[in-house]
Amino acid sequence: MQVPFHGRAVRGWVLGPTEDVPRRVLAVKKVVSPTRWFDEGGLALCRWVSERYVAPLAAVLERATPPRVAAEEVGRGSGGPDTVARHVSPPRVLDGYREGSRLVDAIATGTPGPWVLRPAPEHEGSAVVEAVARCLDAGRRALVIVPEAAPVPGTARAIAGAFGDDRVAMLLGGSKRARYRTWLDVQAGRFDVVVGSRPSIFAPVPGLGLIVVGRESHPALREDRAPYYHVRDVALARGDIERAVVILSAMAPSSEAVALGLATVAPRRRSWVPVEIVGPGPEGRAPRLVRALRECSRAFVFSPLPGYGIAAVCRGCGRPAACAVCQGSLRSSEGSVRCVVCEAPGRCRTCGASDFGLRRGGQERVEEWAARIARVPVHRLAADEPPRLPADGEVLVGGPEDVRDLGGGGLDLVAILDADLAGRRPGLTARERAVATWTEAIAWARPGGRAIVQSMHANDPAIQSLVLGDPARFHRDERERRAQAGFPVGSAVFRVVGDEALPDELAAFDPITLLVSTVDGQTVCLLALDPGRVAAFGRQARALAVRDVITRVEAEPHL
Ligand SMILES: [Zn+2]
Ligand SMILES: [Zn+2]
Repeated sequence: MQVPFHGRAVRGWVLGPTEDVPRRVLAVKKVVSPTRWFDEGGLALCRWVSERYVAPLAAVLERATPPRVAAEEVGRGSGGPDTVARHVSPPRVLDGYREGSRLVDAIATGTPGPWVLRPAPEHEGSAVVEAVARCLDAGRRALVIVPEAAPVPGTARAIAGAFGDDRVAMLLGGSKRARYRTWLDVQAGRFDVVVGSRPSIFAPVPGLGLIVVGRESHPALREDRAPYYHVRDVALARGDIERAVVILSAMAPSSEAVALGLATVAPRRRSWVPVEIVGPGPEGRAPRLVRALRECSRAFVFSPLPGYGIAAVCRGCGRPAACAVCQGSLRSSEGSVRCVVCEAPGRCRTCGASDFGLRRGGQERVEEWAARIARVPVHRLAADEPPRLPADGEVLVGGPEDVRDLGGGGLDLVAILDADLAGRRPGLTARERAVATWTEAIAWARPGGRAIVQSMHANDPAIQSLVLGDPARFHRDERERRAQAGFPVGSAVFRVVGDEALPDELAAFDPITLLVSTVDGQTVCLLALDPGRVAAFGRQARALAVRDVITRVEAEPHL
């Protein structure tokens, strides 16, 4: 609807009746849309997001609903939801899992609550299909969130294949108009299963019995614009509000999911890849990898670094190479040298020359040397090429962005190069992200392949988690490390920007950690709070924003 506000007409939502009527009330000017945008549960969820992430409710409602296309609202019937179709014969994977039959029971009987699922690689799609089938059999609908829209994740394809296009709504991109139409159809109950990326966690699914968050440790599940939220937390809150079963699924779960102490559904018998740890050879050419590459016919070689190499020394003046504009390091890629930081063409900051001696290493260089070793063609995915698995008779070289839920595996070799770089990356969760990516890549070697990981630290819990196919020890280690760093797993973290009065105001919330720095004349605070204190902090943050002490609050920043 449209209302007058400070002399302008602005759009808003009708939330419901109130007892708290202000003295001056203005009339609604017009009703903009006949669509009901959220029901009570949906509004309760948006209120939860608003409080937990300290964001205005209006901003959350805006984000939780798709852009409206008025033409799509014309001529829609107002009948109740269709009933949920039943009688599919689901795969039976979960019976062979620890806690699997308890999960199946919970879904069948509509017993709400959260679970962690750690599927065997070959069951990543089918375990979710089974859970969804049980939910539909119980007469309720299911919502499955996947971290990425393109290429369509294997889990999404498995669901579409099992239940058919007419029962499954795919909220994975598409035109604004198509998205809005699907959203209205979802709300009308025309689909039994909704599969979508991050914003679909707010999809208005009537009679919701199950929420699955696929690859829940994936960084794309955290919204990186205001209002910030994490799909994992929103899913748990929604499950609570709508009395649904919530499954957090990942081959390598996040520390956050593990810290919840939930029942973990995992294979009774270990089904993992034989993983060999070897010392790194020159540029990644460990002798064992060289031998394996010579024999393999279908392989993925993971190299975390892009490009061909880093400029080490200027050939003009002999000084160490650095960017003339910003002193950043210079990378050679696709035949030209550019600054890693500011992307300026590579020029020496001492003499302006643009000829450098390179320290070789990176995906382009790996492609070059692997092509000399392997007896099948070696390729590297171009920047604009969608990620894919290597074909039969192909070795593919790729980086973190190429490791996706592509469905299936069947590679005879997966190699992880430069594993020890992960520990040197900035960021508190860099190691955890690396473990998840390595695990997902290594899983492609199921059922008959092998994996070779190059690391100097075979006993590091991160490396050991790859050998075991089980990150339990890594999580214990990670938990300790995060606590020592002042940002314990499960604490609520905010980056707060404001003026110099900010640190004293924030200290009043008894923070676990409060780090203060000054950036461009503004005070920037990193704040870790006990989750129980977030509501009070949020209320005070609004008051401080009015006084301009706080200018910005970012929840759950990538640390
Ligand atoms: Zn630069
Ligand atoms: Zn120079």
